[in-house]
Amino acid sequence: MSGRFPQYLTVEQENELRAIANSIVAPGKGILAADESTGSMGKRLGPIGVENTEENRRRYRELLFTSDDVVAENISGVIMFHETFYQKTKDGVPFVKVLQNKGMIPGIKVDKGVVPLAGTDDECTTQGLDGLSERCAQYKKDGAQFAKWRCVLKIGTYNPTYQAMMENANVLARYAMICQQNGLVPIVEPEVLPDGTHDIETAQKITEQVLAFQYKALADHHIFLEGTLLKPNMVTAGQSCAKKYTPEDIAKATRTALSRTVPPAVPGITFLSGGQSEDDASINLNAINTFAGRKPWALTFSYGRALQASVLKTWQGKDENVKATQQELLMRAKANGLAALGQYKGDIKSAAAGQSLFVAKHAY
Ligand code: 13P
Repeated sequence: MSGRFPQYLTVEQENELRAIANSIVAPGKGILAADESTGSMGKRLGPIGVENTEENRRRYRELLFTSDDVVAENISGVIMFHETFYQKTKDGVPFVKVLQNKGMIPGIKVDKGVVPLAGTDDECTTQGLDGLSERCAQYKKDGAQFAKWRCVLKIGTYNPTYQAMMENANVLARYAMICQQNGLVPIVEPEVLPDGTHDIETAQKITEQVLAFQYKALADHHIFLEGTLLKPNMVTAGQSCAKKYTPEDIAKATRTALSRTVPPAVPGITFLSGGQSEDDASINLNAINTFAGRKPWALTFSYGRALQASVLKTWQGKDENVKATQQELLMRAKANGLAALGQYKGDIKSAAAGQSLFVAKHAY
């Protein structure tokens, strides 16, 4: 018997994955999640009166990716949808190249979406394992260094069930090993949705259970934890909970849940914003970082809505608004970069500031 099994990863593979993961969560940096599927993009563009065409999606992503180089001080990596990953600027430069030239790491969403989990009361799993290894190999060749796969768990009287927690943890673990074998750092995203009336204690307990299932499955599948990132929800009360909680309450519940379940070998935790307003997402991330206690991982952001609400509001699909729009992105990136260091004072005000970004049963 040998200590190293050939079906796992080589030392070289591990070293590469570790280096990628560490650079994504370098101090003061986080991820821009710009991987909305075509359908989700329609929901973002509709409210600003922009038609959901391939060209408008391209124009929008070009605007995000060509903002001033200082953006790279706070955004280390960008997650893209397949279509975006192969798009170019109007001058013909591939987006992947644009990001690489700024020192930002290209990432790719590889799941194929959330589907019903048969035999449950409205719970889900996520599909996309078929052909995944071949797709990952191609994305790696084309410049991707990390990947994302999102699973969702719902809180209800009897949910999430053992079945749903088991299935989602397992599919994320299978995805994670396929990514690692192809040189992509897997972002493991088991999102507990904020839909519901539950209090913060319930959210904390469920998040702990979901993460416990997750790390057992990752161990079962021999995942190299140093070459992974976790993308969880912050622990917040349900959207419709009557009781209101402070950023300190959220920080305590989140840090406690994570410290009970996430091994110190994991280099970083990159929170999703989950429908919080831009202000709340920055302030809560800051509180999570300043919360007293042991903190073995980087705690940073991988925001979609909370980095793009002001951007969309300012852009309105108009070329003459591009500069002002890019300025909004820089401001949110800066605020969240500071929050990841625990140094955000809550003073960077953007166009969409306190506006709730909650979407019921959020799909990506
Ligand atoms: P939000 O920050 O909008 O929740 O989304 C991030 C993400 O990538 C979800 O998969």
